[in-house]
Amino acid sequence: MSGTNTFHVYYEQDADLQWIRGKKVAIIGYGSQGHAHALNLRDSEVDVVVGLPQTSASRAKAETEGLKVMTPAEATAVADVVMLLVPDEVAATVYSEDVAPNLKPGNYLVCAHGFNFHFGKIKPPAGVEVFLVAPKGPGHMVRRQFTQGKGVPCLVATLNEDSPDTLLLALSYAKAIGGARAGVFRTTFKEETETDLFGEQAVLCGGLTSLIQLGFETLVENGYSPVMAYFECLHEMKLIVDLIYEGGLSYMRSSISNTAEFGDYTVGPKLIDASVREKMQGVLDRIKRGDFANDWLSEHQSGGQQFKRLREAAKTHGMEEVGRELRSRMSFAKPQ
Ligand code: NAD
Ligand code: MG
Repeated sequence: MSGTNTFHVYYEQDADLQWIRGKKVAIIGYGSQGHAHALNLRDSEVDVVVGLPQTSASRAKAETEGLKVMTPAEATAVADVVMLLVPDEVAATVYSEDVAPNLKPGNYLVCAHGFNFHFGKIKPPAGVEVFLVAPKGPGHMVRRQFTQGKGVPCLVATLNEDSPDTLLLALSYAKAIGGARAGVFRTTFKEETETDLFGEQAVLCGGLTSLIQLGFETLVENGYSPVMAYFECLHEMKLIVDLIYEGGLSYMRSSISNTAEFGDYTVGPKLIDASVREKMQGVLDRIKRGDFANDWLSEHQSGGQQFKRLREAAKTHGMEEVGRELRSRMSFAKPQ
């Protein structure tokens, strides 16, 4: 297996808050990531303004927190650093309509996922440096960990890879949202974008949900109770993943029975075999060529009907109904 084990991690002492404290930051969007970045920056004594359309329902939430809210165009016009935290599928439109006309040379444009920059959907003008600060966790965790004195690990990258001052600013931003408490890793736009898409499609979201669902269906079609199938194929997943998260695969295996461990080694690779690896390669090739990005953006531009249909169909799968019923009787499993 190729690859390197040498990497540098930046911690609090490696980043200086003064760089980002010396700038005015506009956070465009106030969703999962937006609210966390805006509030963490404010609590780190950074001058922040939130950019949201006049009609946005999130305006009231940001104002209740005491944040200054302007339109995305106004916020860009007053800021030195503009962080785009709107959904990836609308970012290029928000950029061209609201951000680009108000950017000045010397401003910085920032994102939390390189998607639109790497695939050329947003082309920043000369004189505007672009960097990425991507927390490796959901926005609500970025806020919660910060308020507890902890942080979520972050990736940083600069679009122009030879730009040491921009890297200092990116590290400063990452520190201000709490990332340097956990560790900040340097990457490139290409690597962040392609690995993030691959991970969510092949393993974390797409691969995992399909594995769970096929396991559930196989048991139920063979006459086993949906409740048993749910426990075996979905509920216990978290307990196994928690062990993997704490200590890797070997640590998890030291906790399961020898019977489970023998089945793991002998059956797992037969199921997730060379044919799956080949398909994973195909998934990665499509991502790298920009085919997935184009599919997703054209789905959005044509009204998103397929996306809505898939979302609705997924909600009504039998396993989801069993799950709703079971979780309503398990107080410990209620979402926070
Ligand atoms: P989100 O869907 O939670 O929030 C989007 C926000 O943008 C909302 O406040 C919405 O009102 C606002 N918005 C929508 N259209 C707008 C417009 N036209 N003008 C201004 N604001 C508009 O989005 P998110 O999940 O926080 O994702 C934001 C970025 O962060 C994306 O690039 C995403 O890939 C990246 N990211 C997200 C996560 C995550 O955990 N959700 C993790 C890492 C990176
Ligand atoms: Mg991701």
